[in-house]
Amino acid sequence: MIEENSPDLCTKCGVCCDGSFFELAGVQQSDINEVTRELDMLQTGERLQIKLPCTAHVNNRCTIYEVRPWVCRAYECKLLKECKRGEVSEEEAIKTIDQLKSALEELDTLLLEADVPKERRGVHKRIRILEERSLTIMAEPQYRKAYGPLLIKYRLLQKLLTERFGIPFEKRDVT
Ligand code: SF4
Ligand code: SF4
Repeated sequence: MIEENSPDLCTKCGVCCDGSFFELAGVQQSDINEVTRELDMLQTGERLQIKLPCTAHVNNRCTIYEVRPWVCRAYECKLLKECKRGEVSEEEAIKTIDQLKSALEELDTLLLEADVPKERRGVHKRIRILEERSLTIMAEPQYRKAYGPLLIKYRLLQKLLTERFGIPFEKRDVT
């Protein structure tokens, strides 16, 4: 996430910090300092995870860049790796990021129309909410008719995430 010496992709993207598809990012005790302790975190026993969207992510930038946790220093999506290796041009990578952002915006509009607001929830969680709610109130064919276009867009988004960003189907945590 947001590498200093990498192509300028992450500052145009930021989707691995903004909660679009990752909901949590695992951190280690050694990552905790007077700055990172202010992040919104989930503690489960010994396990600490940053809740995404990260509160340090502002205007596609990490506002605590110098002291960001290890996972944030280490994580690179497939597209970023390919771009750094010169297998994908920066221009092509930026087009892919634009494609991803458009897909997310379209899905956001459809989910809002389906009365599933964002409220700091990622797209996978919103789809699960819709599916759980819909399955309890509708028979299967009606559900498909009402939400078919939305679910098709969701499947296309998953394909894009998997194939271009290397993010496994419905992966929710950066660990
Ligand atoms: S998804 Fe990839 S390109 Fe986008 S911010 Fe994360 S590492 Fe950077
Ligand atoms: S600390 Fe910085 S790099 Fe890590 S999730 Fe938050 S905004 Fe992203």
